[in-house]
Amino acid sequence: MAIRITRSDETTNLRYRRILLKISGEALMGKGEYGLEPETVTRVAAEVKAVREMGVEVCLVIGGGNIFRGVSGAASGMERASADYMGMLATVINALAMQSALERIGVQTRVQSAIPMATVCEPYIRRRAVRHMEKGRVVIFGAGTGNPFFTTDTAAALRASEMGCDALLKGTQVDGVYTADPKRVPTAERYERLSFQEVLAKDLRVMDASAISLARDNRIPILVFSIHTAGALAEVVAGRGRFTVITEEG
Ligand code: UDP
Repeated sequence: MAIRITRSDETTNLRYRRILLKISGEALMGKGEYGLEPETVTRVAAEVKAVREMGVEVCLVIGGGNIFRGVSGAASGMERASADYMGMLATVINALAMQSALERIGVQTRVQSAIPMATVCEPYIRRRAVRHMEKGRVVIFGAGTGNPFFTTDTAAALRASEMGCDALLKGTQVDGVYTADPKRVPTAERYERLSFQEVLAKDLRVMDASAISLARDNRIPILVFSIHTAGALAEVVAGRGRFTVITEEG
């Protein structure tokens, strides 16, 4: 049977039929300085559940920066590739935490890892991931792209492209893309819309350049919003609330 990879479904009123949500590992730290805060993981899981209940198919990529980052390992003298593999393993820890939080609130979830670890989770198999989503399950992609020297932002753009997602939602610390870090520069201004080209030319660092290029090549809009605002994910999916949208046209 042919596998169905479709974009926006004209038969429903949904703006997006299938989305990929990217959150950094730090988004799960809560008030801590390291690791996972269970209440925060539970809160983000509830946000994902709300979107699932709107009928949107959801997959997730979670970073690992709350546990380990390859660059810091390399800075302390480790070989970069080995440090990056540690970073990828960190993303699997986060994925399992999120799976557990989602399943506690009744959302069926599968974790697929780009680095096979059969006793822990499924290996990444694109067609199987698509089937899971068609059945209403949330799929969490762990271990980034499976390759050192990449980031989970690139993994998010890659998986969003492979899954035929209608949008890539990036949940960040603030409610969109700003001219400068609004937490440090009070005069920083927020963009409502941007083009992929502007993000690259202005070096806005909302996602790394390879992620932006992949999303551009595959015509996947990126919506940047605050993961810390309650209800924001569902609002953004419905086209409301505060977010910056990055498209070809800007
Ligand atoms: N990583 C990697 N390849 C990938 C994705 C991630 O090597 O495809 C490693 C890299 O060391 C990175 C770490 O995993 O520092 C954690 O990912 P990231 O920094 O993207 O997490 P975030 O900042 O989103 O929490």
